[in-house]
Amino acid sequence: MTDFLMRYAITPRYLTGPSKRRPRRPLDPGVRFVVVHDTGNPRSTAEQNVRYYERSRDEMSASAHLFVDDRQILECIPALTGAPEKAWHVLYNVPTDDRLFGFDANDAAIGVEYCFGDGIDADEAYRKYVWIVACICHRFALDPSRAVVGHFFLDPRRKTDPVTGLAQSRRTYEQLLRDIVTEHAACRQDVVSLPPAVIEMEGTVVATSRLNIRHGIPSRRAAVVQVVGRGSELAYVGLTREGEPVNGNPVWYRTAGADYFWSGGTSAVP
Ligand SMILES: [Zn+2]
Repeated sequence: MTDFLMRYAITPRYLTGPSKRRPRRPLDPGVRFVVVHDTGNPRSTAEQNVRYYERSRDEMSASAHLFVDDRQILECIPALTGAPEKAWHVLYNVPTDDRLFGFDANDAAIGVEYCFGDGIDADEAYRKYVWIVACICHRFALDPSRAVVGHFFLDPRRKTDPVTGLAQSRRTYEQLLRDIVTEHAACRQDVVSLPPAVIEMEGTVVATSRLNIRHGIPSRRAAVVQVVGRGSELAYVGLTREGEPVNGNPVWYRTAGADYFWSGGTSAVP
């Protein structure tokens, strides 16, 4: 089983619908690709964009599913937090989306908007933007190296996004596509779905650096229940070779409280 690392929260902030911006219609063939946009409006935050959409929801048929800035990821049309619905983010009469993906973007793609400009931490907004696109690819089983396309690529006569927004953050479209593939691989992880086999053995080791004690499962995904400093002595009552490999080492110790710490952060008591 493969799970995806949820680095950030996705906050639903659905527009009122049916309305021009949110028709409340399903993405008929399902989610087939992702269109990356920028807002084209420097200094406007995710919050401001969604509020503007809501105020003007009956004024025009233009929308996107997600807005990302340095603070948050807002979903104003259901994509990941609810059954995916249509948004209007690419003109129907452009031909490239049909040619590449077999569908119009408005019928089969999630649209993600990057917020940029003064007052928005470009690096943090970029990290969230890369992550959310990777997350969409994972959720809908899309190949991140093929299923992501820029708005400018679909509508080159009218649009330059997200190239222009990314440029203000000192990044290129090509870099974005590469970073999405890397993030997708980094966030996908095999989940230990069965309890690991634990060999009962008692002993004590010493932490060789700051070490996290993880709740209930031998994995960095588990909550940290305690952090111990370098040199701390740690008693264990068992070990497993079926934990999450860290630097290639899957051996974790189990505590009397049935929590775990990674063996690679320890050494024998001198
Ligand atoms: Zn766009």
